[in-house]
Amino acid sequence: MDCIFCNIRDKEIPSSILFENEKAFAILDINPMNYGHVLLISKGHYSDILEIPENDLKEILSAVQLVSKALVDAFSLEGFNLVANKGEIAGQSIFHFHFHIIPRHKNDNINFVRNIKKYHENQFNKYADQIRNAIQSLK
Ligand code: AMP
Ligand code: ZN
Repeated sequence: MDCIFCNIRDKEIPSSILFENEKAFAILDINPMNYGHVLLISKGHYSDILEIPENDLKEILSAVQLVSKALVDAFSLEGFNLVANKGEIAGQSIFHFHFHIIPRHKNDNINFVRNIKKYHENQFNKYADQIRNAIQSLK
């Protein structure tokens, strides 16, 4: 299996690691949506959020929080977007779990287009029930 993030983790291809803990490491995205766009990558090769062992999540999220704070401080950010794509349909192109941390500034011209949908009649409750039932069956 050839995975670019595994290769970076194993230092088989050069990159500049910004931070690492036991379960995650951070690098700059090579095609940034904004300057300072960071990828926070799991050390284990798991394709996406659903595959990550629960035990790894705490360290991954704590790395996300630390690196996000550092980005805010380093670039005086007004905010950032935290994104994890799951599946090709959602825009995932590398199937090794990672968060994008995308710095945001006023007038930075980055658009995450949101075409808002509207629930009608009982649809809202129906969706809520379906989700609650699915959660129940996972317990
Ligand atoms: P996704 O489309 O959510 O799977 O994100 C994959 C990201 O990895 C993209 O934003 C790419 O620009 C980025 N990427 C691909 N190859 C490299 C690399 N060698 N170093 C850093 N980032 C990379
Ligand atoms: Zn991998």
